[in-house]
Amino acid sequence: MADSEFSIIQRYFAHQPGQRRDVLLGIGDDAALLSVPAGQALVVTLDTLVCGTHFLASAPPDSIGHKALAVNLSDLAAMGAEPAWVTLALTLPKVDQHWLDGFCHGFFSLAAQHNVTLVGGDTTSGPLAISVQAHGFAPPLQTLRRSAARPGDCIFVTGTPGDAGLALAVAAKRQAVATEHHTHIQNRLDRPQPRIRQGLDLRGIASAAIDISDGLAQDLGHILTASHCGASLYLAQLPYSAALTTLAPDTAAQLALSGGDDYELCFTVPPHQISRLYERAAAWDCRCTEIGVIERQPGLRCYRPDGTVSTLDMRGYEHFT
Ligand code: ADP
Ligand code: MG
Repeated sequence: MADSEFSIIQRYFAHQPGQRRDVLLGIGDDAALLSVPAGQALVVTLDTLVCGTHFLASAPPDSIGHKALAVNLSDLAAMGAEPAWVTLALTLPKVDQHWLDGFCHGFFSLAAQHNVTLVGGDTTSGPLAISVQAHGFAPPLQTLRRSAARPGDCIFVTGTPGDAGLALAVAAKRQAVATEHHTHIQNRLDRPQPRIRQGLDLRGIASAAIDISDGLAQDLGHILTASHCGASLYLAQLPYSAALTTLAPDTAAQLALSGGDDYELCFTVPPHQISRLYERAAAWDCRCTEIGVIERQPGLRCYRPDGTVSTLDMRGYEHFT
């Protein structure tokens, strides 16, 4: 597909308004030339979305473009990095202009919101798959690593986890849902908002952070493993959306703990930093909720409102307990 490969690149990717000035050479040569600010570490992450695994072939192309970028920016957010550049590897079964228009609209709208420039990539034919590599900057000593949580640190979460898992559950059951709730949960699944602002605000405040792609309990488990500690979570403190409490009153905790795809941040904060956290979080466009505490004893304990340990279906996070 030699001809169409080059025409796709020219038509869809080569011309971006508002390129960053640190892009010395962008799309069009054998590689991009990029200038990393002095004193900053380059923070690099890559995620792939495969049709049939991460999204359905029938998914709106606009949401696929948005999400392919969003999941990568979410990883930068979880490191406390400021996003700058992305590369895009696109494998397409055929040249579908309607699909490419929609994909680019979703992708470049989100890129513009975060001052991100696409600086290169690869275009091939084959089963539909999208890989995005995102590059950002952070002062090396202020990055948010999974390994630095300490006993006594409080555990927080942004937003309202469980909404994306609820959208999948509702679709699987073909459950009839009021329009306002349907719009909310579908948006949360299709158009996650990477918590970039929050990650930057957590520099110098959070001891550890992770973004929630596989469920709050499982992803918190990665912090616990890397930090060699355990935690208690208090189910009564979990922040639920109105859609979650209305549509899934009996399974809200389950969805919040083990539903994936939320792309919220879970992070830990030493007690003496909590007032600074709340000062910054007052300006956030999402909730910031304390849900538990890091402890020396390994494993994750989830407490019900009456103080007993929950026997919730532990499948999502069994191997961390
Ligand atoms: P090469 O053969 O030297 O690897 P390509 O023909 O693959 O170069 O790509 C030509 C230029 O277009 C390169 O700058 C490459 O980074 C860019 N490019 C190719 N595909 C994409 C894409 N999907 N998105 C952004 N840039 C792309
Ligand atoms: Mg080349």
